[in-house]
Amino acid sequence: MTILSLQKISKKYSQAKDFAVNDVSFDVKEGEILALVGESGSGKTTLLRLIAGLEHPDSGSISLSGQVIVEGKKSVPAHERQVGMVFQDYALFPHLTILDNVKFGIKKSMGDRSQIAKNTLELVGLKEDDTKYPHQLSGGQQQRVALARAIAPNPKILLMDEPFSNLDALLKDQVREEIRQIIKKTGITAIFVTHDTKDALSTADRIAILHKGYLQQIDIPKELYENPVNPYVANFFGKRNEIFATPAEEGFYTSFGFVMDPEAKKHKHPVRLIFRPEHAEVVQRPGQQLSGKIVKTSYFGSHQMVKIEDEDGKQVTIRTNPGRSFEGMEQAFFYLWKYDVEEAF
Ligand code: ADP
Ligand code: MG
Repeated sequence: MTILSLQKISKKYSQAKDFAVNDVSFDVKEGEILALVGESGSGKTTLLRLIAGLEHPDSGSISLSGQVIVEGKKSVPAHERQVGMVFQDYALFPHLTILDNVKFGIKKSMGDRSQIAKNTLELVGLKEDDTKYPHQLSGGQQQRVALARAIAPNPKILLMDEPFSNLDALLKDQVREEIRQIIKKTGITAIFVTHDTKDALSTADRIAILHKGYLQQIDIPKELYENPVNPYVANFFGKRNEIFATPAEEGFYTSFGFVMDPEAKKHKHPVRLIFRPEHAEVVQRPGQQLSGKIVKTSYFGSHQMVKIEDEDGKQVTIRTNPGRSFEGMEQAFFYLWKYDVEEAF
């Protein structure tokens, strides 16, 4: 069931030359976690603020839980939208205890405010810390307080702006998983903004990718990664290699060698073969394969990246298992097991 629906939302700030958000439409299903990704300035925060009611669009409409909250001049005020918000810097009140921070947004009409706040703190695993102050907690714990404060009033949707960006890399993996579990336990619908593809791929049920205010694609992580609708989306989820190729009867001629492919003859003009580092394999022996000079190997623990160069200095990067040794090897042989063929020009 759809809980949030955006229809053709556009927003231009008064001083700005371009639209920050451009004709964006999408639906969010009840209980799902949607990641909003894009590079800096792509309109992610603006989109969240439009949903929260902190900005009003120039055109388009928004409905939440079946109620139209934005249309034309009409706008349900932010405090009446029942939207929970977690800000990038958590924005906790430093002079209030953890309990009072969480109590803050809970209305009297909801019942015993302290009890609701305590229950929510228990849910986020901070039951014992209710009398502490924010500065006495770690970054990850402060974030869970911010999350508790946002979900305690039982909002219809939870919005989080860059929730993981203030955490160091080591903590991030753990916090991401904790936050996902808490959200899933409550069944709340959530949208979180991130510029980090790893956050999005590991935490979200679906991902929406924005570029210059335009929605490029919205789909499950696997689809976005494996079937990107355009090169922008494809490259956003990890760099791809490109090699120029001339089609022939039985395959493609490239500067790294010949790629056998019966489909090649369908192409009349030069093309590019595009492949991700993990879609090629470095092999031990020469054969019907591509080859080039090894210029660099980088070790990452879980894998290695090997840079291979053709005679003109054009490089490709291939991912291999971490145990492989390339010591003393000048030449590498490889083959492509998955690639896209795109027009060269
Ligand atoms: P993101 O969160 O993806 O980095 P933003 O939504 O913050 O992107 O910004 C989108 C665009 O709108 C950017 O070009 C930014 O400079 C511009 N912008 C954001 N906030 C304002 C504002 N208050 N006034 C004018 N321009 C703004
Ligand atoms: Mg932002």
